[in-house]
Amino acid sequence: MTRVDRTMLRGKAQTVTGLVDPEALGPTLMHEHLIWDIRTPQMAVMADQGPEIALCNCFRINYGRLKVPNNLVSRSIDIACEEVGKMVAAGGRSIVELSCGGLKPDPEGLAEVARRSGSLIVMGCGHYVHDYQDRANDTRSVDSFAAEIISQIFEGAWGSSIRAGIIGEIGCQVPWTPLERRVLQGALIAQAETGASVNIHPGRHEDQPQEIAEFVASHGGDIGRTILSHIDRTIFDEYRLLQLADTGCVIEFDLFGQEQSFYSWGDIDMPNDAARLKSIRTLIDHGHLDRIVISHDICYRTRLSCFGGHGYGHIYENVVPLMQSRGFSASEIDAILINTPKRLLTFI
Ligand SMILES: [Zn+2]
Repeated sequence: MTRVDRTMLRGKAQTVTGLVDPEALGPTLMHEHLIWDIRTPQMAVMADQGPEIALCNCFRINYGRLKVPNNLVSRSIDIACEEVGKMVAAGGRSIVELSCGGLKPDPEGLAEVARRSGSLIVMGCGHYVHDYQDRANDTRSVDSFAAEIISQIFEGAWGSSIRAGIIGEIGCQVPWTPLERRVLQGALIAQAETGASVNIHPGRHEDQPQEIAEFVASHGGDIGRTILSHIDRTIFDEYRLLQLADTGCVIEFDLFGQEQSFYSWGDIDMPNDAARLKSIRTLIDHGHLDRIVISHDICYRTRLSCFGGHGYGHIYENVVPLMQSRGFSASEIDAILINTPKRLLTFI
């Protein structure tokens, strides 16, 4: 692949296998991981990576009380192809893959998965949360991050010639570290320079999505092309949800398929899919239909169908019928699964 510029990107979506007409994207999962490693640096070097996942332990591992490093990493192209193939069979078409800096991105692997599975894959770029980043990032400037992200979109990412089609997931934590703020500022400069959307992973505190949305707006970001991820594990009240939507950002419910109330990364009551749909209905009833996207954010092997999980087809197989039976109209479902992703993935 060759270098592209802003003019070439405008009006197109950029997948790992090249530029496409955004009409070709179809039903799109906006936040997934296909080839990933979300082990913390400490976990990655542990001598005991835990048992192999099997029928007798997949529930316990997936539930999360039993934390097994082995579950937090998947590098198999064959498994990714098989799992994405099942999503295509269930009616899905495109996937946004957000394994960015710190999560061991594999652009060549994603291109192979796209070719073999018949899906379109849009790759993210930039850096995940502080602790996962290369420590060489600690002394880097905003401009250095901006230049890196711009080149990942125009030239190629992570040493490959495969170009990113979205920025993110940009990692933030609570407390929000100076490094994470510099990366986000760099991402906003790159957004202005390239016309890409930005996906942001907020820290696990109910006020942080709002803090980030206000930061984006006050630092020259395009709030309407800024997606706040993981709202279903972060905000639990209508006031905060509507206040966040009023900023004009895109709200992402991306843990569909995780249905246990227990959440291993924090002391919250995790909603199930039906409760997620109630929050989405609240947003729609307040005029926010065009700023909602959904996904599974699969980053545990136990959530893949070959390890006993729901797989990438879950939204099409199970959530769409639930939406239909809960009174969501066809045009509302299309807005969430097709039209808003298409808008966000089309370079401006
Ligand atoms: Zn993610």
